[in-house]
Amino acid sequence: MSALRGRTGDHRGVKRTTSDDHTTSARPAPTPAAIFPGDGEMAALCRAFDWSTTPLGPVAGWSQSLRTTVGIVLGSRNPMFIWWGPELIQLYNDAYRPSFGAEGRHPRALGMRGEQCWTDIWSTIGPQIADVRATGEGTWHEDQLIPIERNGRLEDVWWTYSYGPVFDDDGTIGGVLVVCQETTRRMLSERDRERLVALTARAERRATSVIEQVSDEHLTLDSEFRIVAVNAAAERSLGVTRDTLLGRTHWEAFPASAGSEAERQYRYVVAERREAHFTHHYLGEGYDRHLEIDAYPTDEGGIAIFWRNVSDRVLSLRAVRDSEARYRALFDSLDEGFCVLELLFDAEDRPVDYRFLEANPAFMLQSGLSDARGRTARELIPGLESHWFETYGRVARTGEPIRFESSSDAMGRRFDLYAFRVGLPEEHKVAVLFKDVTASHAAERERERLATALEVERSRLAYVFERAPFFLAVLRGPAHVFELANNAYYELVGHRELIGRGAFDALPEMLEQGFQAQLDSVLSTGDPFVGRTVPVRVARTPGAPLEERFVDFTFLPLIEADGQRAGVIVHGSDVTEHELARREIERLLVESERSRSEGEALRAEAEAANRTKSEFLAVMSHELRTPLNAIGGYAELMEMGIRGPVTPMQREDLQRIQTSQRHLLGLINEVLNYAKLETGSVEYKLVDVPVREAMTAAESLVAPQARARGLALTIAACAVPLIARADAEKLRQILVNLLSNAVKFTERGGRIEMSCGFEDSRVAIHVRDTGIGIPADKLEVVFDPFVQVRADLTRPYEGTGLGLAISRDLARGMGGELTAESSFGVGSTFTLVLPGTAS
Ligand code: ADP
Repeated sequence: MSALRGRTGDHRGVKRTTSDDHTTSARPAPTPAAIFPGDGEMAALCRAFDWSTTPLGPVAGWSQSLRTTVGIVLGSRNPMFIWWGPELIQLYNDAYRPSFGAEGRHPRALGMRGEQCWTDIWSTIGPQIADVRATGEGTWHEDQLIPIERNGRLEDVWWTYSYGPVFDDDGTIGGVLVVCQETTRRMLSERDRERLVALTARAERRATSVIEQVSDEHLTLDSEFRIVAVNAAAERSLGVTRDTLLGRTHWEAFPASAGSEAERQYRYVVAERREAHFTHHYLGEGYDRHLEIDAYPTDEGGIAIFWRNVSDRVLSLRAVRDSEARYRALFDSLDEGFCVLELLFDAEDRPVDYRFLEANPAFMLQSGLSDARGRTARELIPGLESHWFETYGRVARTGEPIRFESSSDAMGRRFDLYAFRVGLPEEHKVAVLFKDVTASHAAERERERLATALEVERSRLAYVFERAPFFLAVLRGPAHVFELANNAYYELVGHRELIGRGAFDALPEMLEQGFQAQLDSVLSTGDPFVGRTVPVRVARTPGAPLEERFVDFTFLPLIEADGQRAGVIVHGSDVTEHELARREIERLLVESERSRSEGEALRAEAEAANRTKSEFLAVMSHELRTPLNAIGGYAELMEMGIRGPVTPMQREDLQRIQTSQRHLLGLINEVLNYAKLETGSVEYKLVDVPVREAMTAAESLVAPQARARGLALTIAACAVPLIARADAEKLRQILVNLLSNAVKFTERGGRIEMSCGFEDSRVAIHVRDTGIGIPADKLEVVFDPFVQVRADLTRPYEGTGLGLAISRDLARGMGGELTAESSFGVGSTFTLVLPGTAS
């Protein structure tokens, strides 16, 4: 913005003549001190300068005009400079010096020729000076940029200056006077201001283009709500070009906005000069959208409106709200308890409590807590176990849902629970769906206990079953229909069709032999019938003459799970050979003494026969198990519906078959166990067994049953540690059997105590109960196989009557003894004595 305003007329030169030339020249010659007065630097320099070396010559010869001008220059505080004579010899004042800059041309410039001094700008100023000298007219240059060398570099320097002609004494132009002002600083700040203005303009342009390009839709309205700007996004979304909108008021352009919430807001922005941000459902002009609107007052008193379509967000929020309502309805109708908890953590960030935020109607029923909402768990349930906080705390922390079952003693309940995190992680919110399972849990425990007991039973059955050598058959119902018969039984009665037929229909020859009355009696009374060496006449092949066999046998009632007597189990063994041998021996013994050796031979033969029988039975055990397993297996297949649909009644029957099959298997096992003892084929591994350990081991096996029956089961301390010489496994079998009997025959609330003693190098273990006891006349009999004392016919006890027989045999096999004492109705004590030591 340099402004060379051109020549002004202020210094228009006028040629003039002076009248006092002579007076001047007549005066004494001027001295430097007179021409350059004052104590300024330039005056001093001028005085010291040898002007005779310049074309101006010694000062004494200087014209009056030159001297006057020099006097004006040196006396002025305005920067001034003179070029004098055709060579333009220079002279300047103190005020001019700073324009040379530091270490510049000053003071060399004094007395120098202009052209020599200003080589760098001579092309600019040379012609200007020449022009002044030629025309005699002064010039005015404003804010002229004249870069000059100063301060050791080429600097941009602005000047406002005038060149004025100075007339010499003879009226010609003697020199050019320069009065100047450096305007560099002002020019630079001017230039900065212009740059700022340019920058601001650019920023404004950029803002406009940004508004144009943003995805937000935009309108600017003036204070009269006339549309003055529309961006591209708005054009697109409104489906019109900006020409159709510009100049119209908002209400004309969008009639539906008139009287709406939007209008109220816009008027507020304009009137109050405040921003407004709001969401508006705009409906009209074929436009149905939820808009999020930001409105700002403009500097011009109008309003800038930015808006965007948030219909999707609003609708999805609404959908979320709807589904929330649906979930709430669901939770309210749930049978399960539902609550939302907020976990509370202590300073160390450990979960220490939780607050119930929500609870559904079923919550109270399932938890027993009322008015839980807003209250904390510790407040509601004093003594609540810390594991609840830990579990929920973990869910809140990790966000991993958990399903678990847990009890609370503090609440006296057991729950099945599902907990999952809801909301934002930092909200520590956990939702819990739960159910009080206290009752079903107890039922489940009972079922498990029964299942375990059944498993024990089953394994015992398996043991016996493997060795079953006796004949077995199951007769069902009053008609004694064969349901089952093993091979040994077929061996006895001959291979004929039995299953599904009534006993006396299948075996008509038995009808006259008294068995029917016995079977009927067992079925009606439940008392077993035991026969020893009973003669039976059978037709072993169809149509063959009757053959006499001798059998040891038992008729046992078949008792169903529900306690009903459903039939009779027939088991026993064919002792014909034995009996015949015994009779033969007797005959021989009676016959003569001589025959003793013969008798012995026969006995040996009998024993051999017995051995043969054992071996035979061992083989048969396998044969017995196979069909029994097949019965069980096929019944199970049918029950599972694999053979086709099963009616409920059929299913009941199948379950009966399975129950009977298992029962039978048990019987066979016990029988075989006993048979094995009888034939002396049991092996004993005698070792030193700590008595206390054996007692504890047995006790822990029976403890669950004792607890279930509400019996106190204790072990009294032994005076000294005792060691029994025994087979550990068999010792435990005996103790478990004695304890099981004690549990079985002691009424709820009774006590069972195990204790021990030591006498004559023998260890004694007592099992004492406060049960029903055993009548004196039965005390020895209970050790016989298959004997059960029925004190109470209305309550059948499970069992075969073999436990004590086996136990006593095992005790004796280890060099010990098993005895019983009892007082009927008061209790019983069984004592097992074994060789041993006390330490
Ligand atoms: P099971 O218990 O299988 O019937 P056991 O040989 O173990 O066979 O017992 C035979 C019988 O002895 C039992 O049926 C019962 O009448 C009687 N008995 C055994 N132990 C006790 C006892 N602790 N108290 C009362 N009676 C008992």
